This record gives sequence, structure tokens and C-alpha cells, in this order.
Amino acid sequence: MERQIVYADNAATTPLSPIALEAMLPYLEEIYGNPSTPYSLGRRTKKAIETARSDIAQCLGADVHEIFFTSGGSESDNWALKGAARSMAHQGKTHIITTRFEHHAVLHTCAALEKEGFSVTYLDVHENGIIRPEEAEAAIRPETGLMSVMFANNEIGTIQPIESLGAICHENGLLFHTDAVQAVGHLPIDLRKLNIDMLSLSAHKFHGPKGVGALFCRDGLELPNLIEGGAQERGHRAGTENVAGIMGMAAALKESCGSIEENAAYVLSLREKLRKGLLEIPGCRWNGNAEQRLPGNANISFSGVEGESLLLMLDMQGFCVSSGSACTSGAVDPSHVLRAIGLTDTEAKGSLRISLDRENTSEEVEKLVQTISETVHKLRSMNPFWKEA
Ligand SMILES: *Cc1c(COP(=O)(O)O)cnc(C)c1O
Repeated sequence: MERQIVYADNAATTPLSPIALEAMLPYLEEIYGNPSTPYSLGRRTKKAIETARSDIAQCLGADVHEIFFTSGGSESDNWALKGAARSMAHQGKTHIITTRFEHHAVLHTCAALEKEGFSVTYLDVHENGIIRPEEAEAAIRPETGLMSVMFANNEIGTIQPIESLGAICHENGLLFHTDAVQAVGHLPIDLRKLNIDMLSLSAHKFHGPKGVGALFCRDGLELPNLIEGGAQERGHRAGTENVAGIMGMAAALKESCGSIEENAAYVLSLREKLRKGLLEIPGCRWNGNAEQRLPGNANISFSGVEGESLLLMLDMQGFCVSSGSACTSGAVDPSHVLRAIGLTDTEAKGSLRISLDRENTSEEVEKLVQTISETVHKLRSMNPFWKEA
């Protein structure tokens, strides 16, 4: 089938890989047993998900007992933060450190914890979109028990100094959580080398299915349950397992991790071509550090243009991109991430996020640059306040 659209919104979700689909199909058809049942049909699904758990652990340098299946990134973030906060409260630790530019799954969970009586420090993000470890360290108080900093940002793609932050946390007796939803499958991650206690991941951001993810929880750390009920996940997370989803997630992760360097190099070459092309449009600014960044992410603001209008006009021409965060599109609020790195409301609202992945081609990037350039020009010509600088 000929591709009808140019899909360049891979930070919102990625298409399912054919290998992942293949791995899922038997569990949507003939192998439907409940993994908690004792007969062979159930034992087959149980065995399959344990193999998937072991594959996922291996891709990340984790132990098989450290991987817990969840319904996705949002649940993993909620579980890590609520679980860690509630267990540390028993030791008089009631302070959490995070950042202003986390995903809403972290920010809104922190807001909920503030209502429960925890206090939260939101670290500032500088113009380059990267957290400074010394500022994170300076925010630590005697009652601090937890720090949560995302591995890579979903809007501007900037990669955070996770290794230093983890080391700081462990020197100071803090638990360290990272939302690695944008990083897993795209950047090499070896949990043996990083001081990470909890890590969230989501299958649909690395060509797996939607509605399934995992929480890595370091051996010895006992988090209270978020979901109560049956004894699945060794009693830590109730609910009949999303067997097909788990099989798809493991297959997609193995596939992505098997060619992580090649994919990153290829996607980076496309992104650099895109960046150079777009920066030729007058009156635009590149958002966030260009080097310490996810290979596929581009974020750019165009003055005199509404990002939402640009997105809709690009949609009519067959291009899928994002203005600000996909999670807030529909809402008129400017992106909290772009505000956090110092953009004005108008600059933030005039921004476009383009996230490329291994399925994109050089021809698609050329078409994107040309169409965005023409569309920005058209929108500006309709804007009575726009003057060419
Ligand atoms: C997509 C995303 C999430 C949410 O994951 P879901 O599986 O969609 O719930 C959380 N954090 C980041 C950084 C994301 O990009």
C-alpha cells in the first residue's frame, strides 16, 4: 500500500512494527488462556509473558524480577511516585524534587501528592532545556526522599544528565525515578551502570502497541501497590495481564534495541537535514539544545504564526506533526515545556514539534521543509500584524 501521509509525530506515538504485530497475533487468537489458570492453555500464556519479561529486562540491563507490567507510561509514573512517596512518608520524608518540564503524568501526580501533604520543588529548566545537577543537589533538604527527572523531554527532546542526578540522589539517600518513556528503544540504557531506582517505559513510543508499559523497580525496593486486586505481578499489580500487548512490547523493544545505534544515526541525519531546511525560513527560532537531544526531535517557533493553524493546514496536506505537546492539543494553553525554557506565550503558541523515526525518508523531510515553508509564508501573509524583519 502506498503511504498516503507523512507521519512525523513519533513522540506522540509510533506505528506498530510488523514484528511486534506478528508476536501479538497468536495471543489474540488461539492462545487466549488466562495466565493465572493451571491448565496448559493458561500455562502457555504465563510462560510467554515470563519470556517477555526476561527479554525486556535483558534489553535494559535489569534483573527479570525488577520488571513489572503496567498499562503504560502514565500508570508507571503514578505508581513510582505515589508508591515511593507513601512509603518514604513513614520515615518522615515528605519532600519531592522534580522539574517544571516533566510530562503531565508526573506533574499532575506531584500535584495530587501535594494535596496529600507532600511538598514538591519544581526545578527550573534553562534555555537549553537541560537541568543543572548542582541545582538539583542544592534543592535537597533533610526531609527530601525522592527525585524524579525525565530521561528525555517529549516536546524538545533534550536529554537530561541522568547519570549525575542518580549519583547525587544515592549520595544523599534519595530514591531516584526517571520517566524514560521517550528514551527507551531510542537511546542505549544500561541500568547496571545508572543509579536509577525506578524507570517508566511505554510500548507505543517504540513501535509496540498502545496501553501497555512497564515499571522497572530496583531489587529490594518495595513499593506499595497502586492497583489492588488479584495476585498478578507477584502480588504487586493486580489485573489479568495484557498478554498480547506484553508480547508486542517485548518484540518491539528487542527489535529497537537490536539496532539502536544504526537507527539513531539514520534518524539524526534526517533531523539535521530538517533543521537546516527549516532554519532557512526567516523569523524562526530553534528550541532546546541541538546536540544533547533525542535524534528524531525538532522543535521550532515561527513568529507571526499560530502553531495550531500551521498544524491544521499541514494536516490538510497530509502531514502529521504536533504543536507543543500532543497531550495538550485541543487546549489553547501554551506548552508548559516551552514556557519553562523561557519562551513567551506567543512564541510557545507559534511552535511546531516534528518527531522523526526510522520509518521516515529523506524525501519526506524534503516535502516537510517545502510545505512548512510555503504554509508559514501563507499564514504570515494573512496576518495583518506580521512584518518581515
Ligand atoms: C507518552 C508519554 C507518557 C505517557 O505514556 P502513556 O503510555 O501514553 O500513558 C509519559 N511520559 C512521557 C515522557 C511520554 O512521552
